[in-house]
Amino acid sequence: MVMSDMKYDYDLLVIGSGPGGEGAAMQAAKGGKRVAVVERHVSLGGGCTHWGTIPSKALRYSITSTMNALKNPMFREWGIRVSPTMKQLKQGTQAIIGKQVQMRQSFYDRNNVPVLKGTAVFVDDHTVDIEGERVTAGYFVIATGSRPFRPDGVDFSHPAIYDSDTILELDTKPHTITIYGAGVVGTEYASMFRNLGIKVNLVNTRDKLLEFLDDEIIDALSYHLRDQGVLIRHNETFESIEGCEGVGDCGAVLTLKSGKRLKTDVILWANGRQGNTAKLGLEAIGIEPNSRGQLIVDDQFLTARDHIYAVGDVIGYPSLASAAYTQGRAAAMHMLGEKDGNLRVHDIPTGIYTSPEISSVGKTERELTAACIPYEVGQSNFKSLARAQIVGATVGMLKLLFHRETREILGVHCFGVNASEIIHIGQAIMNQPAPNNTIEYFVETTFNYPTMAEAYRVAALNGYNRLF
Ligand SMILES: Cc1cc2nc3c(=O)[nH]c(=O)nc-3n(C[C@H](O)[C@H](O)[C@H](O)COP(=O)(O)OP(=O)(O)OC[C@H]3O[C@@H](n4cnc5c(N)ncnc54)[C@H](O)[C@@H]3O)c2cc1C
Repeated sequence: MVMSDMKYDYDLLVIGSGPGGEGAAMQAAKGGKRVAVVERHVSLGGGCTHWGTIPSKALRYSITSTMNALKNPMFREWGIRVSPTMKQLKQGTQAIIGKQVQMRQSFYDRNNVPVLKGTAVFVDDHTVDIEGERVTAGYFVIATGSRPFRPDGVDFSHPAIYDSDTILELDTKPHTITIYGAGVVGTEYASMFRNLGIKVNLVNTRDKLLEFLDDEIIDALSYHLRDQGVLIRHNETFESIEGCEGVGDCGAVLTLKSGKRLKTDVILWANGRQGNTAKLGLEAIGIEPNSRGQLIVDDQFLTARDHIYAVGDVIGYPSLASAAYTQGRAAAMHMLGEKDGNLRVHDIPTGIYTSPEISSVGKTERELTAACIPYEVGQSNFKSLARAQIVGATVGMLKLLFHRETREILGVHCFGVNASEIIHIGQAIMNQPAPNNTIEYFVETTFNYPTMAEAYRVAALNGYNRLF
């Protein structure tokens, strides 16, 4: 373990209080280090808490629960017609953010980690300036997150033009929206707005949605989004976005290189993000970000300097809150001399909160085929599960990919209700040391009935029966 060097104010200074920064700060503090965190936002928690994961998921829950309740035929029989406003739908979000901030503040308090308010700028190898105050540390973790990439020539101050950080400020429910960029954030917002009854154009720059997913899941997502009424346009490239000028709020126009023009009440730009490194004073410490403002790190999250780590969105892929937290902890463990503490930093599941929800971990069929690994597939359709029938959530599927000979689980892919929870059962078994990582576990184990988890037994038996 590194010894405290009393010539510095702190052993570790963490820049940014999102999940990446918090993971690093807590791990190092528990390891006995003198730690402080710098945060420039008015309250802690990062983009994750204030303009990313938490508010978007809270809004999603609010939309789905409200719209499901309003679909109850009794409301129509009683002549009740309600159309919740954006303001009403967002009401619960602030309360959840408040609870999150309070809880996170208590972690820092309990672990004696001061949160220094202000913007950190490197002055030299071991010193940062925070609003005129100099603070020194032996080690640093840069966890400054990312922001939406904004193309030149688009006026994001126009009332009809938003990016993925500002869309939550939308106060009036539009009738129509165009979302440019069909990555995770774009498809999640497409689902959310469609569930609200808004007409949605989803413009994809590629030829498939979320092409890192298993092909069958991509097909299912495309089918269900279209079935719900989302108009998807693939292989398009942005030419310009212009906000309408004139009397009243008349929307904005997206012009595509193909010549198409889409006019809607609102345009959401959801295409790409860049690391928050611009005003960090990196030139003073000899670190150069890439063209997307991201920092390059090694396996232990060290930058080009051996006392400066970087974690979370600022290092790019996978740009998930879940991954950022684990990376932060891993960086702190390395600083404490524990290498990466055997954290499974590369075993990151994907959770996508579209309708239907999607989650996956491990290899896809495409990857296994390309690598010539002999695998077999076991599937369970939610429509055949008693629990899914009871709760009326029959859209979905669980798919297990396993090695034909060893029966080791190689990938788990799921879409449908609670997919992001269900996936963890498969992940837990897949990560066991051989021979405990096979589909046999699901064939031999008794599951509660009726549950969605039962899908694992059904899928394992389905796959088992294909073997010869
Ligand atoms: C709409 C949306 C939905 C998302 N949904 C999910 C999801 O469902 N699941 C999931 O896992 N991920 C989700 N993400 C991604 C997730 O929010 C990010 O991956 C996560 O927040 C990254 O954490 P971080 O710690 O790297 O950075 P952040 O959470 O962005 O925190 C960085 C912090 O650093 C501070 N900072 C920056 N520069 C300085 C400086 N110089 N000095 C002091 N402070 C500074 C910032 O103010 C900020 O508070 C979503 C993102 C978006 C945009």
